[in-house]
Amino acid sequence: MLDPVPPLLSVRGLKKHYAIRGGILSRVVDKVHAVDGVSFDIAPGETLGLVGESGCGKSTTGRAIMRLIEPTEGTIQFEGRDVTRLQGEELRALRRRMQIIFQDPFASLNPRHSVRGIIGEALVIHGLAKNRRDLTEQVVRLLELVGLRPDHMTRFAHEFSGGQRQRIGIARALAVQPRLIVCDEPVSALDVSIQAQVINLLEDLQEQFGLAYLFIAHDLSVVEHISNRVGVMYLGRVVEIATARDLYANPLHPYTEALLSAVPIPDPTAKRSRVALKGDVPNPINPPSGCHFHTRCPIAVARCAIEVPALITGANSHAVACHLRHETI
Ligand code: SF4
Repeated sequence: MLDPVPPLLSVRGLKKHYAIRGGILSRVVDKVHAVDGVSFDIAPGETLGLVGESGCGKSTTGRAIMRLIEPTEGTIQFEGRDVTRLQGEELRALRRRMQIIFQDPFASLNPRHSVRGIIGEALVIHGLAKNRRDLTEQVVRLLELVGLRPDHMTRFAHEFSGGQRQRIGIARALAVQPRLIVCDEPVSALDVSIQAQVINLLEDLQEQFGLAYLFIAHDLSVVEHISNRVGVMYLGRVVEIATARDLYANPLHPYTEALLSAVPIPDPTAKRSRVALKGDVPNPINPPSGCHFHTRCPIAVARCAIEVPALITGANSHAVACHLRHETI
């Protein structure tokens, strides 16, 4: 039997807590539990969708993996090395293998640089261009790869539409030949028709270069098409993770059921009853005890307010963190 392929990225027990300071001595008076013990793997060439309402910790998870923020606890293995321990040159080398694209491409592109400057900067920083001519040739090739024209090279970010700016952001990420791209809500700010174009582009590039994606979104309908597996987050924890097909056909966690019930079904004859959640997402400074979801869960029992449900994996690698659904996996 062949050995299983080792994961490209392996996150275990990741936590990110932010201290809240108060008083004249500026002592730590509380903590925001932005990410509270998240674990998952991403295989080479795989897309993991990460979904949840705003403030659930999905973007913080993406940024901690990139070491744009320092994790409080946990390990992040990338290509077999713990990235939380890397410094200096090793961290710079890691940044070449892992890239990120953001929701708002305009904010992440330097308005004073031409497109050549924006994309070329990454090539220069990582020593990937032999000379000016080589740099220009690489920028042209990257623009063509993302569906833009060579003459776009001399223009500035504000001259482009939102979809085109996202393409520039993707070209910049691709310039350094990464193996993993963290896509942090890359289509949330775009019109639906443009969203589909950008998602199709990301899929084409994945096939061409064997890229892996962590695709972060607040909407399950966005990640369905692109993801091999999907993880659902609620208040800093992963509550369910499964193959996309399994999660959409057979959601187990009541929170996933509620999110899915809000996704429109293309077939008008099919019915899916809407599960309305009571209240808003609780404050992450003081999350509910036990299962964080118990204050909004339509099927909660007394035990839910006391005991934290473990994320238990069942058949088809379908994992769920719910006391009442563990026996169904
Ligand atoms: Fe609902 Fe309890 Fe399951 Fe949490 S553990 S999702 S509160 S039933």
